[in-house]
Amino acid sequence: MQRREFLGALAASSLAWGLPGCAGVDGAAGKSDASVMTVNGSIPAADLGMTLTHEHLFADLRPYAEQMASLIAVDMDEVAEVVLPYLREIHRQGCRTLVDCTGTTLGRNPVLIKRLSQASGLQMLTVTGAYVAAGGRFVPPYVLAETADQLARRWIGEWRDGIGDTGIRPGLIKLGIEGDPPSDIERKVLHAAARTHLESGLVIASHTGPWADVAPGRNGRCAFAQLDLLQGAGIAPSAWIWVHAQNEVQGSQHVDAARRGAWVSFDGFRPGQEAAYLAMIGRMRDEGLLDRVLVSQDAGWYNAGQPRGGEFKPYLPLFSDLIPAMREGGFKEEQVRTIFVDNPSRAFAVRKMAT
Ligand SMILES: [Zn+2]
Repeated sequence: MQRREFLGALAASSLAWGLPGCAGVDGAAGKSDASVMTVNGSIPAADLGMTLTHEHLFADLRPYAEQMASLIAVDMDEVAEVVLPYLREIHRQGCRTLVDCTGTTLGRNPVLIKRLSQASGLQMLTVTGAYVAAGGRFVPPYVLAETADQLARRWIGEWRDGIGDTGIRPGLIKLGIEGDPPSDIERKVLHAAARTHLESGLVIASHTGPWADVAPGRNGRCAFAQLDLLQGAGIAPSAWIWVHAQNEVQGSQHVDAARRGAWVSFDGFRPGQEAAYLAMIGRMRDEGLLDRVLVSQDAGWYNAGQPRGGEFKPYLPLFSDLIPAMREGGFKEEQVRTIFVDNPSRAFAVRKMAT
């Protein structure tokens, strides 16, 4: 074991992570009744522990029509064989919860997530909602056909009764929005998410914008258009997560979104990006906004249809590379805990956040 890895493991032990502190601006972790919905049922928000807030286990990334035309039977035993070692590796590092952000029509598989949760000892969350980014390739016909109210009823039904006949309930509303400005279908989906939030209290996590390398400011405009619409629909910004905020290179936009109360999620870390992540997170710290920041990796991805899921991206680098770099870069232990323990427990706490 290399020195850096050892230090990471040592400091990331459950003792070092401690229990969540109480109260942030919205104080959910400080309330004894705040809860989070995992695939194994409701747990106290304070029990989330060290959390990876945006990862993937299993996905089917074929266009929706292709998925429907040729269904792939999931070999759960094989997926477990491939994925479990990566999950056990981060459990040993002190990780306690993993949010599977795989969208509803990108291979979301609650039964598989529950099995991996129980086998790994990690608490896990799954989603409801609709992913209408990526040029619409994952949009099912019902999302086109139904009204915002009908979509909201569908998602609230999953919240109340479970997904399909699994009895497994979602822990967040996952959207994919990329329009600048948002398209009609994106606006409809945002209104449906607003109604679902007001009924369920589930946080709305929006994959935002196109991928990296677009014009500066474009991802930010997409983010603020969503915030404007949601606030207009009566939703507080603290019920919304700006997913993939790292794709916006103008750091001032991160600051503005956080000041407004939104969650800003830097969630695509890969080894070698330590300096870039330290700069983004450091700016938020310097602005006094660390209590609005989430950090994760968008890693994993057992891909349906590829031999043994293709090339799986491990979850370890956040523990072996990023967190040690943060400590070496002057982040205090309590600040690391704010990002990886306290903030997730507040962001995913089930609570209705009306304006
Ligand atoms: Zn993702």
